[in-house]
This record gives sequence, C-alpha cells and structure tokens, in this order.
Amino acid sequence: MALALAVVSCTPGEEKISQKAGHLHRDMLTVDTHCDTPMRLLRSNYDLGVYNDKGCVDFPRMKEGGLDAEFFAIFIGQGPRTAEAFEKEYRRTLASFDSVRKSVGQYPELADIALSPDDAYKLKDQGKLAIFIGIENGYPVGTDISKVKEFYDLGARYITLCHSSNNDICDSSTDKSGPEHNGLSAFGEEVVKEMNSIGMIIDVSHISDDSFYDVVALSKAPVVASHSSCRALCESPRNLDDEMLQALKKNGGVIQICILSDYLKQPEPNPEFDARAQELREKWQAMGPELTEAQQEQRWSEYSELKKQYIKLATVADAVNHIQHVVDVIGIDYVGIGSDFDGGGGIEGCTDVSMMKNITKELLRRGYSREDITKIWGGNFMRVMREVQALRDEV
Ligand SMILES: [Zn+2]
Repeated sequence: MALALAVVSCTPGEEKISQKAGHLHRDMLTVDTHCDTPMRLLRSNYDLGVYNDKGCVDFPRMKEGGLDAEFFAIFIGQGPRTAEAFEKEYRRTLASFDSVRKSVGQYPELADIALSPDDAYKLKDQGKLAIFIGIENGYPVGTDISKVKEFYDLGARYITLCHSSNNDICDSSTDKSGPEHNGLSAFGEEVVKEMNSIGMIIDVSHISDDSFYDVVALSKAPVVASHSSCRALCESPRNLDDEMLQALKKNGGVIQICILSDYLKQPEPNPEFDARAQELREKWQAMGPELTEAQQEQRWSEYSELKKQYIKLATVADAVNHIQHVVDVIGIDYVGIGSDFDGGGGIEGCTDVSMMKNITKELLRRGYSREDITKIWGGNFMRVMREVQALRDEV
C-alpha cells in the first residue's frame, strides 16, 4: 500500500501537466514547419485575425495552442511540364506570396513575416506570432534556376523539391508511373547547389528514397523533412525508414513528424467508408466539371463529415510514438513537428492549431525533459536553419 501511494504521488497529475505545458509554451519557441493555409488565403478571403470555424490555422487559435511560429507553405500541385504551364504556376506562386503578405500584413500588432531564427525569437519577445514562408513543390521553378533565388528573395525559406509526382528536379515517392530520373535530375543537382549557396533549406518530404539519398550525398548543408513520419511505424512511401533516419543524422538534418493520420497509423480496411466515399465522388462528378467556390466548400465538408463518421483517426499518442521512434533510432537532436494542417493534417486530440499543447502534455506524461521538449518544438529546426544560413555566409 505504501509503495502504491509513493508511486501515485510521484506521477504528476493532469492539472500539474497542464500547468507545466503552459509554462513551457510561455518560455520556449514553438515552430510548426508545415501547413497549407496559403491555399485558403489565395482562394477565399479567409481572415487570419479572427477565430475561424473553418480551416485549421489562424492567429487566435495559434495563441490558444501556444504556437509561436508557423511555416505557411505555398503549395503548387504538379501539372504539365511545359513552358506555358511553368509560366502559369510561376504567376500563381507570385500571387500566393502576395496573398500571404497581405493577409499577415493586415494584423501588424499580432504577427509578422519571419525570415530567420532571430526574427522568430524577436517576435516571440514582442508577443507576436512569426509566419515563415515555404514552397511545397519545386514545380514553379520549372527549369529556370534563377527562380530559386527569386523565391528566396520574396521570403521563402524552404522548397519541398517535389510533391506527389515526379518533376524536373527529382522523382517523387508516390508517382504512379515510377521513377523517371532515378533520384535527382541533372537540373535537380543544380537546384540543390543553388539552395546551399543562397542559404535556403532543402525539404526532402515527398521525394523518393533515391532522390533523398542523392540530396543528402550532394548537399553541403543539413536538410529537413518538413512533414514526414517514420516508416518503421507506418508503412508509407511518404515516410522515412530507419536507414534514411541514420543518413539524416549524418547529414545533421531534422525530421518534422507529420500529424496526418494516414502517415502515423496504417488505415484499417474500411469497405463501408470506401463505398460511401465513392457514392459521394459520383454525386459531385455528376454536378459537372466546374464547381463554384461554395460547392467546393460543400463537397469538402461532406467528405470531412463522412471521414469523421467512419474513420478512426490516429491519436496524439500515436504521433508521440513517432517522435519517440526517431529519438530511439538517432537521438533527440533530429526531430520536430510539421502538422500539415489545411493539407490533410489533424489527429484525434489535435485537429487544429489551437490544440498543439496536447502534444506537449503527452511528452510530459512520458517523462520528456524541458530541454528535450524545447528541442522538439523548434530548437532542432532552428539549429538547422542557422547552419543552412551560416554555410551561405561562409561561401
Ligand atoms: Zn505535403
């Protein structure tokens, strides 16, 4: 009995955990390295300054979740690789930069664009949120190397080299037609060198295993996986296996665990959901090829509702299992968090940015120290960002 009591009194209660999490979020810099919120900013007049019931990220919910810095990824879906398409996507990318700057600029008292770790820490001291910009997919670079620097100068601090299909830079992990370059293309090698020389972070999320190994062999700077999880715990080509984790450690980079359910936990076969989803697809296809904005929103909400009804999402505990796996395999210095909010990210217990502290609470329950949690929540990523920028200054 005495022993049992002793054990109970050593286990911090939930109230204590919440309090500790609150203090930590007050003191440390917290960084989420991937959300697709710019898509919302470009398509509609989504207001970052108010508490929205749509979408996963806005300033009031960042405050509530204790998140200081968010990478807004400008996502460009892979399309045809023609001069005409490159020009169109380049224009769309510029428009997206513009809408991010305008949306953030509307609330100078709440947030600002950040370009360096120092900016993020300074903004935190001022009680403001930091918005970094990334580009998800090197597609808008096309085959023009000068675009890399142009996007950097516009404020982008990473480029995810490709998305779900191969492009002119490298092979994707999920292209149905298989590899095209067997890793990085000759142009992709130029892109890696250029990113090293201007101090831009290389993001290896989405790229194929061969592309990953080509990048870490060539890059002089550490790389990041801005939103990827562990293949050992969830078999998906989007995730990194243990050998890749070892290579990442050798490179000095960081993996930011993606809290998208399918990358954390293998989805169970669900024929009932599949049938209902198919019905829904057919219903909306019958509406014709051009949907209005309201119809698109309606389709999205019907699909989300269906998912909510039938799919059991991965949990915060599952996400922390992935963090723990990285720690077990390569140590505490190479892991962080990249939510993929507004791009499919969101799990049970952390469906939007207002719930980020739940991850911290789970880490505390498992006995992670203050120092370790500070590394996971941004310390590791900021170290990499500083090293990438320092390498540029050396050259
Ligand atoms: Zn992605």
